[in-house]
Amino acid sequence: MGYSAWRILREAIGGNKGWRAAWRDPDPQPEYDIIIIGGGGHGLATAHYLARDHGPLRIAVLEKGWIGGGSVGRNTTIIRSNYLLAENNPFYELSLKLWEGLEQDVNFNAMVSQRGVLNLNHTDAQRDAQRRRGNAMLLHGVDVELLDTRGVRAMYPWLNFDDGRFPIKGGLLQRRGGTVRHDAVAWGYARAADRRGVDIIQNCAVTGFRIENGAVRGVETTRGFIGARKVGVAVAGNTGRVMAQAGMRLPIESHVLQAFVSEALKPLIDGVITFGAGHFYISQSDKGGLVFGGDIDGYNSYAQRGNLPVVEDVAEGGMALMPAIGRARMVRMWGGVMDMSMDGSPIIDRTAVSGLYLNAGWCYGGFKATPASGYCFAHLLARDAPHPVAKAFRLDRFVRGAVIDEKGAGAQPNLH
Ligand SMILES: Cc1cc2nc3c(=O)[nH]c(=O)nc-3n(C[C@H](O)[C@H](O)[C@H](O)COP(=O)(O)OP(=O)(O)OC[C@H]3O[C@@H](n4cnc5c(N)ncnc54)[C@H](O)[C@@H]3O)c2cc1C
Repeated sequence: MGYSAWRILREAIGGNKGWRAAWRDPDPQPEYDIIIIGGGGHGLATAHYLARDHGPLRIAVLEKGWIGGGSVGRNTTIIRSNYLLAENNPFYELSLKLWEGLEQDVNFNAMVSQRGVLNLNHTDAQRDAQRRRGNAMLLHGVDVELLDTRGVRAMYPWLNFDDGRFPIKGGLLQRRGGTVRHDAVAWGYARAADRRGVDIIQNCAVTGFRIENGAVRGVETTRGFIGARKVGVAVAGNTGRVMAQAGMRLPIESHVLQAFVSEALKPLIDGVITFGAGHFYISQSDKGGLVFGGDIDGYNSYAQRGNLPVVEDVAEGGMALMPAIGRARMVRMWGGVMDMSMDGSPIIDRTAVSGLYLNAGWCYGGFKATPASGYCFAHLLARDAPHPVAKAFRLDRFVRGAVIDEKGAGAQPNLH
């Protein structure tokens, strides 16, 4: 059943009795060609692109909870491709291009909104770094503009420009960046994959791997053993726990990241703004709530909830940037688990176990990567060769010292 304006009209006239569940609820088959562990954005996107571009294949996505219950439904919805390094930029630009065609591709309204992402700068050194980043983007053919104070003031006159400590000197603007409704991404990919025959099996936690003679044969789950020729792991914040079941330790730490929503206000922010002197980013949802976030909680955890010191830190960042929000009430907050890699860049690679593949290390920037991550992971799973734009995301880079240190912060997950 395709979604269209005609369909909505027909259902409205017929009392909306013709809608069916957006995806099936199948029992697991004894065996598949490919199993994807994790029904988040990355796992579902992988299944979609596998079925669309590499089929026919028998594919299953195994999700321990429900579709969209992980970080794909908990993030602050920002997408962009304003990366500096040559290993990252083409990958994130591919992702942005896939976002631009996503809704037509999966026949689902994901509210892709290219409303612009503005990174503010507050010192001369920051402005120089942004100029360098912007030039790198232009060399990769990616849109970007460097604004001075006047340019920023014209967009957001109510920002705190004359703060003695953090004066706003300008900003790097990517107009094609923006926001996407996060859980609709999970639903859209799930529905599209289901329509191509992928089995999406919820409430099915993977509890172990069956590995014989160095090759994966399938997975143990809470719903019994399921055989597979290949297994792709895309469990984001739970990567450490799941890969430990295959006997692997990874250069990844799991941390909590929180998000916040204010009461609904009249339209105020029509884009995304990030504060350069602290960790704070903000946009406004179509319902009017200010959606904002900050830094990760500074301790390792698999719990999807955070602590109060970060709430205070985020509120301070917000108040320094836009004192006007001091009177808005915060109505909701929540946490998600981040798979923080040591260099802040992802891993899309084979593992030492034949037939076992890994997609991880997304830190708190993995939502924007969802389409390209699924596209490239599907390519790797189907062809056993990395996609050209993801070939640097190898697991052994941490052994070789070839880290992709986008932030220049070194091997410190708390700084990425
Ligand atoms: C508060 C917050 C704000 C963020 N803001 C942004 C942002 O603005 N922009 C951006 O680009 N990124 C952002 N991120 C990061 C982004 O959300 C994540 O990097 C990305 O969603 C991770 O990939 P995923 O969608 O596949 O993860 P998830 O949705 O977490 O999917 C992983 C799935 O694996 C399942 N799973 C785990 N263990 C097992 C098992 N044993 N068996 C079966 N299934 C299992 C989990 O239940 C989960 O559903 C944010 C994250 C948070 C929490």
